[in-house]
Amino acid sequence: MPTFIVFVLLLASISQDARSPTESYFMWLWHSRLYLYSAAALVFGLWFLLKKVRHLLIPYSNLCMSPFIKNDKVDKAAKKNDRETKEVHVSGVKIFYGSQTGTAKGFANELSEEVKSLGLPAEVIDMKDYDPDDQLADECISKSVCVFLVATYTDGQPTENAEWFCKWLEEASTDFRYGKTYLKGLRYAVFGLGNSVYVGHYNTVCKNVDKWLWMLSGRRIMTRGEGDCNVVKSLNGSIQADFLTWKVKFLNRLKTLAKGEKKSCSGKCKTEGSCKNKRKERQEEEKKDDLVESSSDEDESGLPDEKKTVLDVEDLGNIMNSVKKAKVRDGQMVKLSKLNGVQKIEDEGERREMITPALREALTKQGYKLIGSHSGVKLCRWTKSMLRGRGGCYKHTFYGIESHRCMETTPSLACANKCVFCWRHHTNPVGTEWRWKMDPAEKILEDALEKHQNMIRQFRGVPGVKPDRYEEGLAVKHCALSLVGEPIMYPEINNFIRLLHHHQISSFLVTNAQFPQEIRSLVPVTQLYVSVDASTQDSLKKIDRPLFKDFWPRFLDSLKALGEKKQRTVYRLTLVKSWNVEEMQAYSELIALGQPDFIEVKGVTYCGESSASSLTMANVPWHQEVVTFVQQLADMLPEYEIACEHEHSNCLLIAHTKFKMDGEWWTWIDYERFQELIQAYDESGGQQTFSALDYVAKTPSWALFGAQEQGFDPAETRFQRRNKSKDISGC
Ligand code: SF4
Repeated sequence: MPTFIVFVLLLASISQDARSPTESYFMWLWHSRLYLYSAAALVFGLWFLLKKVRHLLIPYSNLCMSPFIKNDKVDKAAKKNDRETKEVHVSGVKIFYGSQTGTAKGFANELSEEVKSLGLPAEVIDMKDYDPDDQLADECISKSVCVFLVATYTDGQPTENAEWFCKWLEEASTDFRYGKTYLKGLRYAVFGLGNSVYVGHYNTVCKNVDKWLWMLSGRRIMTRGEGDCNVVKSLNGSIQADFLTWKVKFLNRLKTLAKGEKKSCSGKCKTEGSCKNKRKERQEEEKKDDLVESSSDEDESGLPDEKKTVLDVEDLGNIMNSVKKAKVRDGQMVKLSKLNGVQKIEDEGERREMITPALREALTKQGYKLIGSHSGVKLCRWTKSMLRGRGGCYKHTFYGIESHRCMETTPSLACANKCVFCWRHHTNPVGTEWRWKMDPAEKILEDALEKHQNMIRQFRGVPGVKPDRYEEGLAVKHCALSLVGEPIMYPEINNFIRLLHHHQISSFLVTNAQFPQEIRSLVPVTQLYVSVDASTQDSLKKIDRPLFKDFWPRFLDSLKALGEKKQRTVYRLTLVKSWNVEEMQAYSELIALGQPDFIEVKGVTYCGESSASSLTMANVPWHQEVVTFVQQLADMLPEYEIACEHEHSNCLLIAHTKFKMDGEWWTWIDYERFQELIQAYDESGGQQTFSALDYVAKTPSWALFGAQEQGFDPAETRFQRRNKSKDISGC
């Protein structure tokens, strides 16, 4: 615009006068304007080009560039490059072999050499020398790649050297205490050695190992390889050729990983429908749920909203039956309210089994050994620990239980609560009264002992298991009736307890404080527990989610009933952080009601992820928080003091001061004396009674609160788990 104005003015002046030198200069400018514009554009273009080229050259030139021209951008680019070159994506390869005839071992050595030739460390591991319980979780963070070369032996079984590894892996994959993400971060590849002549068993071990690792969230780095000894059917003509083909693929994959594979989409993007990873992730999750979970929880029942009230097992049975018809046979129905002491059995045209086929399958997958139609037994983690001399549970510390001789069982998998921290993830049946087919107590005990002993036998020769402990473990000395469910619901519970004592087995029975009449009619047990999961009506409802509408009066009456007992009684308090730790005064009132001999306080145990519970690790109190709570609580109870501590289980014991004699604690149990007393009681028809103080034993110094050992028996060898969140505290 200004150019145009100047131009108009010039023309006007030219037309009037002769041209001055200035006018001539402007005229020249005007006529050369195109050349001037082009020159300016050329200069600007060159400047822009130089700037771009310089920017591109910086990353490559920073090493040789003069220090004077280094700037911040150059430094950052250099640091980034350094990081990328130094980052280790694969720290090494661990090659596990399960071999009977030596072929898998030979393949492992061969692969190891090839891996080393790539400049990566490789380790060949005999599966029998590897303890997955101690070590496998560490592989998730070690950046190593684990290769499993496993042969299938007779009848689809693992080779002898892989037996323990496979057994452990199978149990862990279905045990929710490990959690579905236990092996998250583990990168693995599997190659199987099998023979397709054995139809039905072909490479079953490698398929299973692959499946179990995947169920625990291990990450396959490539498709499983299956070698076939049957040359007729082998894809490549022989098992050696099959392995060679797989090995080439594996080494290529390894090279890619070692270079630092680009991260694939995590599945958390917003492209809901189109993202392949997201879809795959969802499908895999659903598949895992199908494999592991089976819930009776109302939220997952699929019922219309108006029917989403608490389900009992019969409703559950109906739902299950719509998928899989349960076979129901004629029989009897027993009302719990009329049992224990006086058994009244009402004939019914039809009776149902407590465990439906679908539940049976789900519980079996979780590692329960089911007995008859309503009982179960499972090997406790502490039993395994003490078999290896690695310490017992907190009941060993507080009462002298020998954990390796303890059988954890229940004669009733059903329960009247659906507690948020329930170990069984609500897979089990619930109900307010006994309405199922009933197995005799003799049969339950006989089967429980047999199944427990079989589980112990599997520890024969397992690395670390002490031979003397193994022998002792076969002779059950204690029975913890606290596995799952509500043992007191079983109509023949008194008979069952008498049988235990008859076998010289002590009885620790835990009840959920919903059956006061049954507590009153219960025969003497070595130690009777009531779970006190909350101290107010509201929080009890929130935490225990009871089925009974009158759960609070039942709860209070159960505590009163406990107070009427002569033998040892215990309140078991489970602290759920931010849920129930605030209710100190209310707890002390509940203690006054039942006057228990002992109060066990432990931090809630996180049992892994569950759609049925909102509990998270954030709800698990630290040990010091439990100690503070217990100290405050003990200060409010004039007749009680803190006696023992088991730091490993995040658990403390408050005891009535009647167990402190001459300044020394006597919280342990004289089990032999108890058996003598109970025998005299039974023989006298209940006339010769006895009390808690009649079978006490002195508490050792290491078990006392404040001891340096913090409740860990010095006769044992301490084993520190790296992944403490996976630890569990015991029954
Ligand atoms: S935690 Fe329970 S079942 Fe396990 S050993 Fe101790 S008392 Fe027995």
